[in-house]
Amino acid sequence: MRGEEPAVVEALKVRALPEGSCDRLLEFLRLYRDAVQMVVDRIWGISERLSKKRLHGLFYDDLVRLGFRAHHAKEVYVYADSLVESARGNGGRKPVLRRLSARVDRYDYRLDLDSMTLTLKLHSNYEVRLRLVTSKERVERFRGWSNYELVVKYEDGEFWVSIYFKRTVKLLKPRTVMAVDLNFDNVTLAVFTLSGKPVKLKRFKTPHRKVLTHRIWIERIQRRYPRSWKFIRGVRRAIERHGERIRSISWDYAHKLGELVAELALEYRSLIILEDLEKLKENGKRDRKFNKRLGLWFYRRVQFCVEYEARERNLEVVKVNPRGTSSRCPRCGGRLAEGGYRVLRCGKCGFVGDRDVIATLNLYGKYVSRYSRCGVSGVALNAPKPDEVPSGMRGNGDDAMTASSYVNLYES
Ligand SMILES: [Zn+2]
Repeated sequence: MRGEEPAVVEALKVRALPEGSCDRLLEFLRLYRDAVQMVVDRIWGISERLSKKRLHGLFYDDLVRLGFRAHHAKEVYVYADSLVESARGNGGRKPVLRRLSARVDRYDYRLDLDSMTLTLKLHSNYEVRLRLVTSKERVERFRGWSNYELVVKYEDGEFWVSIYFKRTVKLLKPRTVMAVDLNFDNVTLAVFTLSGKPVKLKRFKTPHRKVLTHRIWIERIQRRYPRSWKFIRGVRRAIERHGERIRSISWDYAHKLGELVAELALEYRSLIILEDLEKLKENGKRDRKFNKRLGLWFYRRVQFCVEYEARERNLEVVKVNPRGTSSRCPRCGGRLAEGGYRVLRCGKCGFVGDRDVIATLNLYGKYVSRYSRCGVSGVALNAPKPDEVPSGMRGNGDDAMTASSYVNLYES
């Protein structure tokens, strides 16, 4: 097992109705906000970052004197410190708090999912009971999860709580490895046995072309009304409508794809390999396959859904640096050159393959070289040799994919 047990964290945000008067709760929220502000004001002038211990030493007694419980005090200075850090991090001004919101540690509340009530321990030993306004079904999902913190807010005359739930994941022992490659036109996934034998290949079309059409419409409208598009209602509406289409197309796609990939991975008991999109940014180069106009947001969204659905099924997800996965030969590491429609050829050893399939082979190879050294048993040290690749994967132009494995996820 690598690292610590992975955990899933989810927030449940619900409206909450105080039983009886809400005066004490409002008083608590004001006191809390002012206390956070007081800490912010005092550490803003200190240039070094204070340790938790220093913060405790500086503020604990004062906060307790104001009526806060021990864990309230801790939450107050930790939150103030994080506000100051992030304001400094982006060169901002000293934070000024206006909203009424408080983080509450699990020692300072009692949550009862059966009666749908929440009891908060406030300042000066006051308590308030709140009824959670939501359906049983929404809450049912979190039975068996632990919860460790919540945020209570007062917004437009209503109280809201976000409760943070956590569940550790008992991962399934993988029997295969699935590499997932994302690019402009396709999402390609390839399943390998632990000894590196490819057993399954599937390709899904992305909705990028469709999304691009909407983008082009937006740009066309903006060009036609370069200065005024923001101010003419009809024009602005038209732009918004295209924007909404883009958002719904991509969310819809990401959800469906996440489920499909995870279902297949569960069927094959796969560990899933994804490209590390953060690394892609660090590499500094814009990988050719990531169309600049679309940016990384779409890939992030797809990955988010794949990861989410994988975790729901207790499947492990690993990310590898995508550098070179679409430009290096999976057999010898030589540079690949265009060899026809969607086909790449290695100048050094003559390997020829479909570009998406090559990317999955390389992702698999990266995973193997990264983890075989760390003692993951049963994983082959070498990426599959091209002659071991079944004919469907070898990729001779369009033949690389049989019609049946080419699923159009997305209806145009
Ligand atoms: Zn080669």
